Amino acid sequence: MADTCGHHEHHTHHGLHGAALGQALAAAEARCVEEQEKLTAPRRRVLELLLASDAPQKAYDLIAAFGAGGESAKPPTVYRALEFLERLGFAHRIESLNAYVPCRLSGGHAAAFLICDCCGEAAEFVPDLGAQVAAAEATGYAIRAITLEARGLCAACRAG
Ligand SMILES: [Zn+2]
Ligand SMILES: [Zn+2]
Ligand SMILES: [Zn+2]
Repeated sequence: MADTCGHHEHHTHHGLHGAALGQALAAAEARCVEEQEKLTAPRRRVLELLLASDAPQKAYDLIAAFGAGGESAKPPTVYRALEFLERLGFAHRIESLNAYVPCRLSGGHAAAFLICDCCGEAAEFVPDLGAQVAAAEATGYAIRAITLEARGLCAACRAG
């Protein structure tokens, strides 16, 4: 993240480490078993990188950071893992940043992000889209994913 504004230090850091990271990965593992899916080593590694980071990650960041010893991954490995994580609701793609974040909420939901143009913070919340979803489904349309993106300034940057 470009940390030029100096507001960045006011933000809570979202990245998980140690026991919290282990717990989140174990929960993902359990959900995969429930859904009869496999959290293969590359999928698990990409999820781990997303969960441990404080900011949205671009695919090439993930490719570069993939190997524990600093060696990068083959790009298709990471893209396939991201596709899986998105499909299962473990991650969201933020189109306007061309970057990925781990789902901080329950997964499998429409997501909205409040993206700060100053510090790059992308706060997630669940939008209330019941009426819109119902209207779309009434036409016979099957929604795969909805991601709303708001641009503006976060509270910390506004206060700064
Ligand atoms: Zn989410
Ligand atoms: Zn900000
Ligand atoms: Zn700022």
